[in-house]
Amino acid sequence: MKYISTRGNSPAKNFTEILLGGLAPDGGLYLPEEYPQVTRADLDNWRNLPYADLAYAVLSKFATDIPAADLKVIVSKTYTSAKYHNARADSDTQQITPLRTLESGMHILELSNGPTLSFKDMAMQLLGNLFEYVLDKQGEELNILGATSGDTGSAAEYAMRGKRGIRVFMLSPHGKMSAFQRAQMFSLQDPNIFNIAIRGVFDEAQDMVKAVSNDHAFKAKYKIGTVNSINWARVSAQIVYYFKGYFAATQSNDEKVAFSVPSGNFGNICAGHIARMMGLPIGQLILATNENDVLDEFFRTGVYRPRATDHTYHTSSPSMDISKASNFERFIFDLVGRDAAKVREFWSGIDAGGAFDIKGTPYWHELSKFGFASGKSTHLDRLKIIRELWEDYDVMVDTHTADGIKVGLEQRRPSLPLICLETALPAKFEETIIEALGRNPERPAGLESIEKLPQRVEVMDADLEKLKAYIAAKIPN
Ligand SMILES: *Cc1c(COP(=O)(O)O)cnc(C)c1O
Repeated sequence: MKYISTRGNSPAKNFTEILLGGLAPDGGLYLPEEYPQVTRADLDNWRNLPYADLAYAVLSKFATDIPAADLKVIVSKTYTSAKYHNARADSDTQQITPLRTLESGMHILELSNGPTLSFKDMAMQLLGNLFEYVLDKQGEELNILGATSGDTGSAAEYAMRGKRGIRVFMLSPHGKMSAFQRAQMFSLQDPNIFNIAIRGVFDEAQDMVKAVSNDHAFKAKYKIGTVNSINWARVSAQIVYYFKGYFAATQSNDEKVAFSVPSGNFGNICAGHIARMMGLPIGQLILATNENDVLDEFFRTGVYRPRATDHTYHTSSPSMDISKASNFERFIFDLVGRDAAKVREFWSGIDAGGAFDIKGTPYWHELSKFGFASGKSTHLDRLKIIRELWEDYDVMVDTHTADGIKVGLEQRRPSLPLICLETALPAKFEETIIEALGRNPERPAGLESIEKLPQRVEVMDADLEKLKAYIAAKIPN
């Protein structure tokens, strides 16, 4: 399997060649040259597989340059019930992503039972093991630099902790994360994890990461890399649970389902789109946004118009507070029939701060063939859903999952079973749970007093030279 760029001007590469990088050299995103097709016989064979075996079956179609036996080992040690144990007391953690049925034809797919209580663990845990494997083969090292305001940073640290050849330098805005989020990250004592709290806001931390990455000499000397959401291996790992969820919610491979996906950077739902392109019987892909509704606007009107960062709202589903969906270009490449020139034309406008509009073009008609529906959810909507689920089903959901359920119920075709993806556990977003229910969310066992553990963090001014000196001092040469 070779990977090509959505902008059409980069050489085709193998899975392991694009594993450690970000964008293709031409500024595009990598996608498989063609999507592997899953036959009816494959679906029949896969229906009853345990998660790790299913993950191997799916991923071996993409990671074709990793020897089968090695990939099997990597996948088996990633998807264990010991890793995905942060579940509700009555969840079947053997399933890794248990399906919770609220009523006939309405389900929640639990994707957030991993170490940091968000679905980001599903992909990031695999990435940690893949990175370690490939770096070891190459005799190389990698220093991951990132900025986080929550889920991504903690998922990356828990995936990379203790891994040979890898260090993580994670910036966060000093005093801006919740006590639980701080405790999750700063209590890690692994010598390869470095938490840096920047006296400033998230955007300043993010700008420092960008500035380091643009210093090509520093970047090369200190082998700096990232683990952002455009990473192809992350997308491919997420394809697996669409299959798992489909099998769990249906009796036979003749049925179709709807998935509802709380969306920000379009990474999660992009994996659903690819699962559908591979032949998984998905009738509807329902995209839910919060008040930051760039993606809902596109699917309703045909206009894709990223917002400026100062027009991005801070909401109570903060992991969906995006102004620009970094994975969206992958879907547009498929929508325009993989015409890279068209993608370049659209994104020359986007990169100049503009927009594109497909309404008056043949692509608007094409769009209806991809099964998408969309909608938006606000703070009051999520409070309402959190209350309703708690009252009607005794199930507590987090704010992002609530956005997905709200839009899922609104947009679903009644004939299709609805599978709402649970992208975080409520314990991560205590403040809004208290606002909705007047009580604290339950914490998974073992995390009750995580705030009391000793913490390791370097507090630093938003000073680029200080950051570089700190990184340089931690990397032995
Ligand atoms: C990252 C995240 C999302 C958004 O996922 P995308 O892949 O960026 O669309 C939704 N919910 C939670 C809890 C997240 O952490």
